[in-house]
Amino acid sequence: MEKKEVISELQFIKGVGPIKAIALSQLGINNLIDMISFFPVSYIYRSNTKLISEVIEILRSEYSLNFQKIDIQSLKLYSEIQIVAKVVNIKTIELSRFKKLLKITVTDDSNAQAEIIFFNRVQYFEKKFKEGQILFISGIPTSDKFSQVKFTHPDIEVIDEEEVSLYKSGGIIPKYRMPEGLMKARFSQNSIRNIIQYIFESKDLKIEESLPEYLISEYSLIQINEAFRQVHFPDNIEKLEQAINRFKFEESLLFQLTLNSLRKNQLMNEKGIVIQRNTESVKNLYKQLPFKLTQSQIDVIKQIYDDFSNGKPMNRLLQGDVGSGKTLVAIFTMLAAVDNGYQVAIMAPTELLAEQHYRTISKFTEGFGINITLLVGSQKSKLRKEINQKIIDGESQIICGTHTLFQNNMQFNKLAYIVIDEQHKFGVNQRAELQKIAINSHFDKQVYPHILVMSATPIPRTLSMTVYGDLDVSVINQMPAERKPIKTKIAFEQNRDSVNEFIIKEITEGKQVYYVFPLVDKSEKLQLKSAVEYYDYLQSEVFPNQKIGLLHGQMHGYEKEDIMKAFLNKEYDILVATIIIEVGIDVPNATIIVIENAERYGLSQLHQLRGRVGRSHHQSYCILFSKSEYQFHLNKNNIDTKEYKSAIVRLKTMENTTDGFQIAETDLELRGPGDILGSQQSGMPNFKHLNIVKDVELIAKTRKQAQEILESDNHLSNSKNIALRKTLQKYVADKGNYYRIA
Ligand code: ADP
Ligand code: MG
Repeated sequence: MEKKEVISELQFIKGVGPIKAIALSQLGINNLIDMISFFPVSYIYRSNTKLISEVIEILRSEYSLNFQKIDIQSLKLYSEIQIVAKVVNIKTIELSRFKKLLKITVTDDSNAQAEIIFFNRVQYFEKKFKEGQILFISGIPTSDKFSQVKFTHPDIEVIDEEEVSLYKSGGIIPKYRMPEGLMKARFSQNSIRNIIQYIFESKDLKIEESLPEYLISEYSLIQINEAFRQVHFPDNIEKLEQAINRFKFEESLLFQLTLNSLRKNQLMNEKGIVIQRNTESVKNLYKQLPFKLTQSQIDVIKQIYDDFSNGKPMNRLLQGDVGSGKTLVAIFTMLAAVDNGYQVAIMAPTELLAEQHYRTISKFTEGFGINITLLVGSQKSKLRKEINQKIIDGESQIICGTHTLFQNNMQFNKLAYIVIDEQHKFGVNQRAELQKIAINSHFDKQVYPHILVMSATPIPRTLSMTVYGDLDVSVINQMPAERKPIKTKIAFEQNRDSVNEFIIKEITEGKQVYYVFPLVDKSEKLQLKSAVEYYDYLQSEVFPNQKIGLLHGQMHGYEKEDIMKAFLNKEYDILVATIIIEVGIDVPNATIIVIENAERYGLSQLHQLRGRVGRSHHQSYCILFSKSEYQFHLNKNNIDTKEYKSAIVRLKTMENTTDGFQIAETDLELRGPGDILGSQQSGMPNFKHLNIVKDVELIAKTRKQAQEILESDNHLSNSKNIALRKTLQKYVADKGNYYRIA
């Protein structure tokens, strides 16, 4: 007798069998719960099933504007038009030697005809459809001048004769992901639905409630059984929403519980260095400041001093829009540490910025007798040795550097405080890495240094609650007094002359200008204007009477430094630069920034670039030159392609607001969290249900709830939290993957 191998318990379910069970197993689906955790990716809302004759009427009456996708909780719920029709003809049309088009003619009870057009994967669809098949077609119909109804690449399901009535009736049909493996094992949407239906009817299905009763009632959640059922076979849209909400709530709560218990344990175990506040240098700096600190700056400085005094290591994120004066907050707090006899380090993402910190700190602390050191990668090895020695000896008190600071087994003397500037340039993992290195290089491996992470890219609230959830957050939400919002304008080639005139006028009044180009050298591929080429052109043709400097990434560190210094000292009127000036550079007298090919940049980059001006009481301007053809799209509402659309949204957002937080939210919507954080910033959890852009309220709610739960029951040992504890254990063991979604 042939030996029968058991693949999984699913194998014995009606309609599965060994081949399908193997395919499911390859997706990690091995039991009943796994199978019902295979969630639909979208739903078809069948209230729109029409006869072809009705579709013709609708198209005539121009109701077509209503065919929009509605987005419920970020799940795609199509409100497209659906028809149930029979294939009467299939025809392949050769458009050229390489290009074919497939035309399928269908008809229904109204005896009218519609065409389905495919121009991609023609061979595949050619084989898939046959005359006589009944199709459920869902899409946005169009009609040509002969009133011929057409669906181009619609969603099509081949359905059985007996399903026809189901499809014609109202309701919501779940659609599942159909990867290659399932397709090969001859799964269909229908068979998946049937299998899941069967499982729900089976007595073997036992779903344990994963959340405690008190949470379910407090948040009016639906029970887990019901939630699973509604996700697959929703009674109506409200029920579907409730079901999805329940899974989101659970996922978010579990995530926040892990995050917060980590943080709590960290705080309980780690010993921090106590630093006294209001020391001599702090007072001196305060006395000689040429301006008043903003209330926001004062509040944050106080928060940091509080952290310094409570015996725990500080882990704080300081968010403040470009130009809000974060550096000064860092300096005030660094001085306290120095006066307490410790070493401090400030790390910047570029040498240019590290050098600027070095200059700024030296300037503010002149005469204080504090030893400030610059440490960057481009320094010659002999110099480096000397510097390293000074750091080990403790002669260096404030060290300004790049990531070089924490490379090659750097040794410090009494490093107690690390400031990371422009954190968004480093990445989440690097922060953890840095902390490890800092601890290891520390004089006492039992105590942890304080860490302040500064970020000018305002992080949307959801992101700071998730990615940076293990940090305390401070926000500078106030600009220094007398700052005027930067005026921003989108410009085109035709505005060139007037812009140039305006630049000359401002320069005559003593102001300075940044001129930003995307690339250093001519790139034929991108056809972008290059800084080097345009530098020559601008100097000889456009601004012959103005002094122009050139700054780009391919220059040596000392060259860049010289040019920046010269610009700061007003030796140049105009600085032509690539985006290396994007981060941090501070030249308060610069009041105009011209950005060429502005459509090429992301929103946060544009915001950062713009932040180079508006750093004093003078009115500043940002001019965004972009493609001429955009002119015609700017005022249109129906913009054709995606690229245009997002580029135009970016430019318009820049014109409309200077609020970094608002810009960050829009950016997050346009790009999604993955792109914003970058792939290397993999601190980003991979949520199955939660939408980090749209579920802000829910995330905030569950964060608070998680904190409350841990506050009263740190180990979840209370009897009312037993279910939660079990769920959390499962969640941690599966790295958050325990309820799969397609
Ligand atoms: P960012 O937050 O972008 O790093 P900076 O720390 O570089 O901003 O500060 C921008 C400019 O504003 C600097 O020239 C700084 O000296 C100045 N500045 C900082 N705080 C104040 C204040 N309270 N009033 C006026 N100017 C300030
Ligand atoms: Mg800065």
